[in-house]
Amino acid sequence: MSDYNWCHGPNCHTTETQSRVRGSGDNKVLRTIKIKQGRYNNYQNGIWDYFCNQGCLFDFIRTHLQSIVAIAPRSKALETKIKVKKEKYESYRYQWQGDDANGPTRVPYMATRTTINSVDNDNG
Ligand SMILES: [Zn+2]
Repeated sequence: MSDYNWCHGPNCHTTETQSRVRGSGDNKVLRTIKIKQGRYNNYQNGIWDYFCNQGCLFDFIRTHLQSIVAIAPRSKALETKIKVKKEKYESYRYQWQGDDANGPTRVPYMATRTTINSVDNDNG
């Protein structure tokens, strides 16, 4: 296994940066970026071992979108079981009195907090 990948961005070799210039004299080219594998310690499943930057990643996705989604089609919505807990608690809002030179007045009111709690799911 090689220690390097060529960036998979379809237009990587057309981006005008000094880092892509190769060759000498009148035979210069812009070349696809060579990427050292493991450069970000497998961050984001190693996606940056294949793309030099986000621009190249999104060029690849735009170019191959239909093929990519065909790998794992989603024909119906997935669902995750949850419990929703609603509870009242005392909170405050701030009200200007108009002639109040000391700033707004803190006014209590009952607010609602909604919490989503996970339950046992097959999908962990
Ligand atoms: Zn690239």
